[in-house]
Amino acid sequence: MICQNLHCHSLFDDGADSPEAMILAAEQAGLRSVGVSLHCPIPGEDAWCCSEEDEAVFLETMQDLQRRFCGRIEVFCGLEYDLRAERRTVPPYDYIIGSCHFACGFPVDNTQADAEALIAQIGSPDRAAAAYYEQLTALASFDEISIVGHFDLLTKYNERKPLYDVSSAAYRDAAFSAMEVLSRAGKIFEINTGAISRGYRTSPYPAPELLRHLYKIGGRICICSDAHSTAGIVCGFDLAETIARSCGFTAYQVFDGHGFVPVSFQR
Ligand SMILES: [Zn+2]
Ligand SMILES: [Zn+2]
Repeated sequence: MICQNLHCHSLFDDGADSPEAMILAAEQAGLRSVGVSLHCPIPGEDAWCCSEEDEAVFLETMQDLQRRFCGRIEVFCGLEYDLRAERRTVPPYDYIIGSCHFACGFPVDNTQADAEALIAQIGSPDRAAAAYYEQLTALASFDEISIVGHFDLLTKYNERKPLYDVSSAAYRDAAFSAMEVLSRAGKIFEINTGAISRGYRTSPYPAPELLRHLYKIGGRICICSDAHSTAGIVCGFDLAETIARSCGFTAYQVFDGHGFVPVSFQR
């Protein structure tokens, strides 16, 4: 059983439940540790990001919860960056997830209409994919980032309508080359089940083709739910493990308070 989830949201951003409720749900699900991650403030994006004023309150709240849950479940304080956010440091955060929610100024995952508008604006799905993965590659130079969030987020709506031809050579070239640069920079790739609990997809990010390539180049993974409510705290974890194993992985990375260590999948 997967023992940790480092990616979930709370009332401090676009989550539905308090950090305490998310931690309780993680404890009840049998996790040994959990990180609540905050959508880093971005000017004009208060609908889904934490406000500048509330960031300090989040940090205080998490410190208090770390003390209160001591001896029950280990609690970490995480941050999910977007490329458009101002940079932060570790500490005060325990770790930082780097994500790309926009390409060429368009939201990648907000609505299907936005996702289609991005492709229309850029001219073709392959060109939109190239632009998205090029932006994502920039995260390689952010030393404070440990984890790459939902690597192929732009395929969020592909099960409803195949917006991207993920088997095309152009798509693969763009995705593989971003993956190689990010992996060489030491970034860990999360297998992210968030779109399953929210009803958009039946499989996690990244796609198995991408995970197989990651395994081949010696990349590392962790498993995260990106839960936005208590019900999703470990949603799809068994499926994520099954897919990871089928792609060759025998272990996933766990944050121990200092760094990341490999934990073998149980036989
Ligand atoms: Zn995200
Ligand atoms: Zn997230």
